[in-house]
Amino acid sequence: MLQVSDLVTFYATSQALFGMTFDVQAGEVVTLMGRNGMGKTTTINSIIGIVRPASGSVKFDGVEVSRLPSFKTANLGIGLVPEGRQVFPNLSVRENLIATASNHLKLPDPWTLDKVYAMFRELKARETSMGNLLSGGEQQMLAIGRALMTNPKLLVLDEATEGLAPLIREKIWTALSELRKSGLSILVVDKNLKDLLKLADRHFIIEKGQVVWTGTSAALKKNEDVQHRYLGV
Ligand code: ATP
Repeated sequence: MLQVSDLVTFYATSQALFGMTFDVQAGEVVTLMGRNGMGKTTTINSIIGIVRPASGSVKFDGVEVSRLPSFKTANLGIGLVPEGRQVFPNLSVRENLIATASNHLKLPDPWTLDKVYAMFRELKARETSMGNLLSGGEQQMLAIGRALMTNPKLLVLDEATEGLAPLIREKIWTALSELRKSGLSILVVDKNLKDLLKLADRHFIIEKGQVVWTGTSAALKKNEDVQHRYLGV
């Protein structure tokens, strides 16, 4: 579904990605892991068109997307839950959810407000509250709900549990696990190895802008050397 090949990305003269290569198959949950500053967000932003790679390719369902504007990539079925949530502060919960709602791919049984509220009951209770008045956990649920309302085929989450209380984190992992069961493909950037080992099929570990290890959850669980060397566990 997603094939990222040999991505090279710079910020001015500073190189952040050095030939990033990985893939996500349909129905899979895949992670990008690595220490701070290794290039995970740059990879996601290069996929979604927020930064332009200097070379390499990003194919989504066979279409080259790395040089498309972000809205076109979103219309093709990539739903982004960005780092820092980025909810619209001056729109209500309901307005945040409907502002970008769409079903460009005409997927059957599309996401609706009621379905998002059923997944995150907290959002229903806060339906008329403005985005900037929500707690961090509520904002994170809203960011996920907003991405789902675009009816993506691939959901991409950048640090979706960062800075959240354990109980809220648990809710997010449960929601992702339900989404996985529904067949949605998911690409996750996160630091919670334990939770990711339970949720994901495969992992790509990143060091200095390239993949240095890849394998299944079972393989990563066993490989304490890789956990220690690249994740500081
Ligand atoms: P984190 O977990 O801290 O978010 P990351 O793995 O997502 O880290 P990136 O944010 O992609 O890493 O950063 C990769 C490299 O690019 C780092 O050296 C970082 O300092 C640099 N970088 C990131 N954003 C910019 C920017 N806007 N301008 C210049 N350099 C940047």
